[in-house]
Amino acid sequence: MDKQTLSFQAEVKQILHLVTHSLYSNKEIFLRELVSNASDACDKLRFEALDNAELLEDAPELQVRVWYDEVAKTITIRDNGIGMTAQEAVSHLGTIAKSGTRDFMASLEGDKKKDANLIGQFGVGFYSGFIVAERMTVETRRAGAFAADGVRWSSEGTGDFEVETINRPERGTDVILHLREGEEEFLSSWKLKSIISKYSDHISLPVLMAKQTWDEEKKAQVTTDEWEPVNKAAALWARAKSEITDAQYQAFYKQISYDQEAPLAYTHNRVEGRTEYTQLLYVPAKAPFDLWNRDKRGGVKLYVKRVFIMDDAEALMPVYLRFVKGVIDSADLPLNVSRELLQESRDVKAIREGSTKKVLGMLEDVAENQVDKYAAFWEQFGAVLKEGIGEDHQNQERLAKLLRFASTTADSGVSFADYLGRMKEGQEAIYYITADTLAGAKSSPQLEIFRKKGIEVLLLTDRVDEWMLQHLYEFDGKPLQSVAKGGVELGALQDEAEKKQAEETSAAFKPMLEKLQAALKDRAKDVRTTTRLVDSPACIVVDEGDMSSHLARLLKQSGQAAPKGMPILEVNPAHGLLKRLEITPEASFDDLAQIIFDQALLAEGGQLEDPAAYVRRVNRLLTV
Ligand code: ADP
Ligand code: MG
Repeated sequence: MDKQTLSFQAEVKQILHLVTHSLYSNKEIFLRELVSNASDACDKLRFEALDNAELLEDAPELQVRVWYDEVAKTITIRDNGIGMTAQEAVSHLGTIAKSGTRDFMASLEGDKKKDANLIGQFGVGFYSGFIVAERMTVETRRAGAFAADGVRWSSEGTGDFEVETINRPERGTDVILHLREGEEEFLSSWKLKSIISKYSDHISLPVLMAKQTWDEEKKAQVTTDEWEPVNKAAALWARAKSEITDAQYQAFYKQISYDQEAPLAYTHNRVEGRTEYTQLLYVPAKAPFDLWNRDKRGGVKLYVKRVFIMDDAEALMPVYLRFVKGVIDSADLPLNVSRELLQESRDVKAIREGSTKKVLGMLEDVAENQVDKYAAFWEQFGAVLKEGIGEDHQNQERLAKLLRFASTTADSGVSFADYLGRMKEGQEAIYYITADTLAGAKSSPQLEIFRKKGIEVLLLTDRVDEWMLQHLYEFDGKPLQSVAKGGVELGALQDEAEKKQAEETSAAFKPMLEKLQAALKDRAKDVRTTTRLVDSPACIVVDEGDMSSHLARLLKQSGQAAPKGMPILEVNPAHGLLKRLEITPEASFDDLAQIIFDQALLAEGGQLEDPAAYVRRVNRLLTV
């Protein structure tokens, strides 16, 4: 192939511009990215060679070499990994394959702290070379291809790149950075070594640099032909726990997670038994930007006997633990295991169950011993953990103990156990209310009687709560009871006198209820008196088995069909507005009835179908 000039995909141009301008303050990461690509290329070759040993040619020892040339002002990162064909070079180094690029660009464009760590997550690490290089040249040959099918790719990282065929006997890839003016600091053995050991210590194959010696004649450091490893190249998880320091665990986490912050907790175990594996799992301290993407694959890497098999092995962790990062190294799985096979394997099922238990154990430990830390975890990941209540019936009880809520007693951090401990004498249920916001939940009219009697109510405001509640009916034998569903059965919490009085008022109010019911026949399936209200005139509730109005609203917002059932209007006969109904002239009765209903709807966070009609009614009443 003769030399061709091709244009970068539009997104690549944008990325290039952003990367070189935004990540400058963190420029040394280019080396981490390129070494990580070199190591990936070796992993890929090792994997393909399992089926086709010839690919290893006469160089079975996979390694990465890094050197520099002070005169030419270049840094070269060489690997003898899989290499690229011309076509691969054009598509891998000219377009962006991974999704999420837009999110990445947004994160660089925003006012937020420019997060250089994200670059690796988004599959655009290669371009970070242009932070320090005015030109990047890639010379590569695919494993198994002829020497004559080598490729040279070259670009200044602006609009376009060149590709041509070259002769290249060596398998694998050289990435050559022609440094920009002013970047000479990287032309130093010490500097490069320190960056590599900072970021790439745990890469599981050796990263070599040429040894330097002092040349007395030249009075200068000269490069020898002796290569020495600059990283430890030992799979951390395979070492004995007692030999690993906390700092090493933390460094490994940063390397695999691209997270600058220290993890919240980690667990490292060798599991023996029917299936043997090692797990090193971390819970991050901060949620990633794409936590809510349930299709996102997990952060657990699968190794088999220390050979890297795949990233994001989602079969190893339940979806609700998708934030967990780490490594699982199996001794039993076949090396050529595919994603499809993983889904069906009994060993994988055992590994997933074992790992899930470990993660839950880790969280239980934090919850018990480091309450503040757990609160921070809950803030970040609580809503995701709630998905587990419905998804993981086997661990539902353990998960329920890990839940934390806001309540009428405390704005956060309330566990079911805390709630049970504060239950009133004679209280038989765990009361809750769902709403869009905490403020909305707190001012719900339905809470009034509970407040008056000092009964705690859990306030649930996460979107996932409604869904979770469809799977969680009780805790420790105490049923969960919505205060906005069914009649209030306070049972033993209400004394006889109160009950008697309620019955009397209700009987006296009966004719008025019938009139109200007739006026609201298209909006409410029932109108009844209640004891749950203290200060409010009315509230809306649904039948025990019906979908809560909050859930119906959520469904509607997300464009799904919600059942068209009508709610129940409950009124407080002791309230002035209801008393007023008795003396309202016939002509205004309907207006007032509709207003009472509309207000009850508004008070629980609902929306009026016809706000203008509401305004007209209020105005008519105000002007009579
Ligand atoms: P990512 O590594 O996340 O895929 P990069 O931008 O770092 O994203 O690299 C883009 C692609 O270029 C890689 O997926 C790989 O296909 C190819 N590539 C980069 N460096 C090498 C290399 N040293 N050997 C073989 N392929 C490489
Ligand atoms: Mg990369």
